[in-house]
Amino acid sequence: MWAMSKLEQQLAGNLSSICEQMARAVESAGRSAASVQLVAVTKYVGLRETAAILAAGCETLGESRPQQLCEKAVEPQLAAARWHLIGHLQRNKVRRTLPLVELIHSVDSLRLLKTINDISGELGLTQRVLLEVNCSGEAEKHGFAPEKFKRLLPELPAFPHVKVCGLMTMAAREGGETVAAKNFSALRQLRDEAMRECPPGISLAELSMGMSHDFEVAIREGATWVRVGSLLFDGV
Ligand SMILES: *Cc1c(COP(=O)(O)O)cnc(C)c1O
Repeated sequence: MWAMSKLEQQLAGNLSSICEQMARAVESAGRSAASVQLVAVTKYVGLRETAAILAAGCETLGESRPQQLCEKAVEPQLAAARWHLIGHLQRNKVRRTLPLVELIHSVDSLRLLKTINDISGELGLTQRVLLEVNCSGEAEKHGFAPEKFKRLLPELPAFPHVKVCGLMTMAAREGGETVAAKNFSALRQLRDEAMRECPPGISLAELSMGMSHDFEVAIREGATWVRVGSLLFDGV
């Protein structure tokens, strides 16, 4: 038998308690277990820890900086990972990033959407993305204002090389679970309204919301992706 390293033990323990918390939240919300997936956010850790979380069974890894994502994505040890970009993408990094990522959670401007569409087209890809919406109204947060997103909706068919799959948000920094629940429910309601007016061919099934401190709240409010970093790597 192989002995588990201390790192592997710690990560396996963290992962199993997060999965249990997710399972309980899913059940109490009356949702199916398969309806919520975990993005393991690896931005705080190096290659060794990232490889260990992959080996522990997390295949979907998220980075918030394109540069770090690109560096990790070429590592042979991480070849089995499916990469999600969860942070702001500068337009000059789009070309390098697109071939590496399965899903971009953080499309936060029309200019970025256009650039992704153009470069995807050139590369012969259809890039899956989520549109980031600023539901908390905090000035320092990226994302479309809800009204701006509504105005963008009818224009989405103009971007054939991008597949918009849903919406992403981050809860307000202050205010705890009550405010987070309000922000998450605002995203879900915005999505539900948008679905009724959605142009043909556009689906907004995915809702990316919830991090270490608020993923259970997010699951209650309809998250399909939760992005968890610090809790997963706690103690390593
Ligand atoms: C860092 C980050 C996370 C993970 O945050 P934790 O609180 O460490 O779980 C999730 N989403 C985004 C956009 C992030 O930048």
